[in-house]
Amino acid sequence: MRRRGMTRRRGTFQGLLTGLWLIGVMCCAAVTATPAQRPASPPLLLSDYSDPANPDFSGPPVLPAWGDPASAAFVGPPRPIPFALMGQHIAAASIARLSWTASEGFAGASVESPVVVVHGSRPGPVLCLVAAVHGDELNGVEIVRRVSNTVDPVALVGTIIAVPIVNPFGFSRDSRYLPDRRDLNRYFPGTAYGSVASRVAHSFFGSIVEHCDYLVDFHTGSFERSNLPQIRADLRLPEVLAFTRGFGATPVLQSNGRRGMLRVAATAAGIPAVTFEVGAPRRLQADAISFGVQAIETLLHALGMTGNSPNWDTQQAVFYDSQWVRADSGGLLISEVALGDWVAAGQQLGRVVDPLNNRDEAIVSPIPGRVLGMALNPVVLPGFAAYHVGAETSAQQAAATDAGDESSDGSEDEDADATLENDPRSPTPGEAVGTDGPAPMMEDVSGIDD
Ligand SMILES: [Zn+2]
Repeated sequence: MRRRGMTRRRGTFQGLLTGLWLIGVMCCAAVTATPAQRPASPPLLLSDYSDPANPDFSGPPVLPAWGDPASAAFVGPPRPIPFALMGQHIAAASIARLSWTASEGFAGASVESPVVVVHGSRPGPVLCLVAAVHGDELNGVEIVRRVSNTVDPVALVGTIIAVPIVNPFGFSRDSRYLPDRRDLNRYFPGTAYGSVASRVAHSFFGSIVEHCDYLVDFHTGSFERSNLPQIRADLRLPEVLAFTRGFGATPVLQSNGRRGMLRVAATAAGIPAVTFEVGAPRRLQADAISFGVQAIETLLHALGMTGNSPNWDTQQAVFYDSQWVRADSGGLLISEVALGDWVAAGQQLGRVVDPLNNRDEAIVSPIPGRVLGMALNPVVLPGFAAYHVGAETSAQQAAATDAGDESSDGSEDEDADATLENDPRSPTPGEAVGTDGPAPMMEDVSGIDD
């Protein structure tokens, strides 16, 4: 067990950074070959968002590179240390294909899921890439497959653990859920003697997650919604904030998350983790997959694990706030915007037409921002979350408006209807669900996600 408290980790993290920075300076000065030391960065604070080189850029600073593997200071003699996982030892500079036993099936046989370990030739971070925690979300499965099969273990620093299908039950049934209708992403880190979901989560967390230094959990929109490729992360945590800066120009959305999510449980165990939303469920989307692969290749370089990084021609945008815009009438949704469009406050996003009574109702954006997610299914009911609009915010603005407060929590929009329609739990006091009076046209996402 490698369970660590975030508070304790944060203290040691900063101390470690300071120490490693000194080591890095000494290495560069003497051009000695200390292997794979991570040049340190100063701790990132919410007030540190200006970039002197680019006064127009208001986002957080770029993730400090931990080292250029091609530099004399970084490259040292390979240390062939085997990597141990699930009782197997993987030799340095090699790839191993293992199986994680998720559970037993109905016939009593093991239900297994593949795990690919790419163990580099030099020691470094352990990056975990996982997908299909929701079994019908496929884009991440392909992203994880491509990355894990194209990285050269001889050139790699550190280790990649790739689990393309965390929920083999749902994957085989084209279902988001486990066979007991539970959402696996509400049960991490799980327990050994709990529900089906809790036991699967417990097995995965102990077998895989606790061996990670960083974790990326791929998802898509849910229930016929598509998401612009985006990182969801709790930016209040400096380690997580710094981690999000390694994904190139991938937009970042502040999201506290909720209890039981894989990324929340991992972060609580001292492992910086993010959700990577990409596209829509039940399909493979070539552009979204290519974007995700490029983002992970960029991350590998940012973590000092590979020598090459893709080029991005845009800056990373950060959205500290976002809002769902809902249909207020039933009918057929006709969109007038596309995923990724920038919209103005009051701009018409689409309209709902009623084929029986010939009514036509506009849906307008309450805020200026970018369309981060939207419904694909044209048949909607009143209250259906149709558009997810993110408001780009500088960190200074976010800090001034209590960005870290629960009320500004970004939604896992894959969860929007899970809470409203599928989750049997009682609504929280802040939810509009179950209250009297008409549902508001637009809700703060905290009402959806708590
Ligand atoms: Zn999901």
